[in-house]
Order: sequence, then structure tokens, then C-alpha cells
Amino acid sequence: MLCEHCGTEMERRDTLICRPYDYVGPVTMKVGAVVCDACGWHVLPIAAYDALYKEFLRQVACRLLKLPLGEFVPESEAAKILGVKPQDIYTRRGPERRKILDLVWSLEFYGSRLFHRRSLQRYLETGDGGFELNP
Ligand SMILES: [Zn+2]
Repeated sequence: MLCEHCGTEMERRDTLICRPYDYVGPVTMKVGAVVCDACGWHVLPIAAYDALYKEFLRQVACRLLKLPLGEFVPESEAAKILGVKPQDIYTRRGPERRKILDLVWSLEFYGSRLFHRRSLQRYLETGDGGFELNP
């Protein structure tokens, strides 16, 4: 594969990639990429984006676990706060077909899903329940 910027032959190899993500900042990890040594251009396969996103989700989960448990509410209360049925949290909705579950911070705790109260509030106000999470 030739580099689309400088025409040099590119090489496939593990490369340290850093991508910015909302609310957690840059996520850095080694992923398989196609790299141009001449100009530094690189192409990531879909699997690399999946791996980066998984790492982002792992960092979100780690950071949520550091927040006080009292800031989380069970699924039934989360549904009440949002004014939806509990199953609606897991259903694709709206024009963008997104799940509420993907737009609010939640964590798995001993087999139950708990939702962060502030995240639910932000979701109601802005449609996005995310907020900055400290490392
Ligand atoms: Zn190049």
C-alpha cells in the first residue's frame, strides 16, 4: 500500500496511537496500523478503532468505580428520573437510534446496573449524560 500523501510504500506494524476522547482525554495504546516512515502518515484498520473505543470504555468504567457509590441509583430509579420505562434505557430510540445506556454513565455492580445521578440529570438537560471523569 502506497502512502496517499508522499507515495512511499507503507508498512504494517504495531504502533503507539493516541486519540482524544470526550470526558477522559487522550487514550493511548499500541494497535496494528499501516505506517509511512517517510512522512508519519498512518492508517488504522477498523479493529484498531474498536480496540481504542474498548480502552476508552475501560477507562470510563475504572473512573466511575472511583466515584462514591451513593451518587449512583438503581435502574428503576434511573428510569423514573428519565421518565421512561426501564427497558427503554436499553432500546435504540430517536432519529439517531441511540440507546440511553450509551449516553449516560453507568456501571455494573454485583450483577445490577447502577446509573450516575448527575449523568442522568445532564442527559435530561442536554441529551448527553457525559461529564469529565478524573483519572
Ligand atoms: Zn507518507
